[in-house]
Amino acid sequence: MFSETAIGGVLGGAGMDEIGKLSDEIDPKGQGWIFECHCQRCGQEVAVTVTWPELIQASERIVPVDERGVAWQHHEGRLFPPAYCPCNAGTPLPVFLVPDKAQRCVRAGLSANVISQAYVTGLVTQIRARRGGR
Ligand SMILES: [Zn+2]
Repeated sequence: MFSETAIGGVLGGAGMDEIGKLSDEIDPKGQGWIFECHCQRCGQEVAVTVTWPELIQASERIVPVDERGVAWQHHEGRLFPPAYCPCNAGTPLPVFLVPDKAQRCVRAGLSANVISQAYVTGLVTQIRARRGGR
């Protein structure tokens, strides 16, 4: 398990990528990255899994779309997953990503051999082709 402080210390980040977050760590089932936070409404702990495709999209600085085709929200460079506490589907959870953090998650997934470089490169190529850029 990583704390944001440890990640910031190792990789030199500012350590303020997320707010209201308890912890974040690689998903042991290999689906992506798990962010734990407290619901701002009821206070219970909620775990949000951000999938590898979503992380890779975020790392490419585009607004991710989840497996259901639901686009994330974005505000001032922050990306908010369409994840809600069971207590009230209308209250967003205090979890957000910035591209730099997504890049760190992707790199950690690569170094843990949870995802392959070919997988990441394939998705990045698709994203860039769709965007029409280079
Ligand atoms: Zn709640």
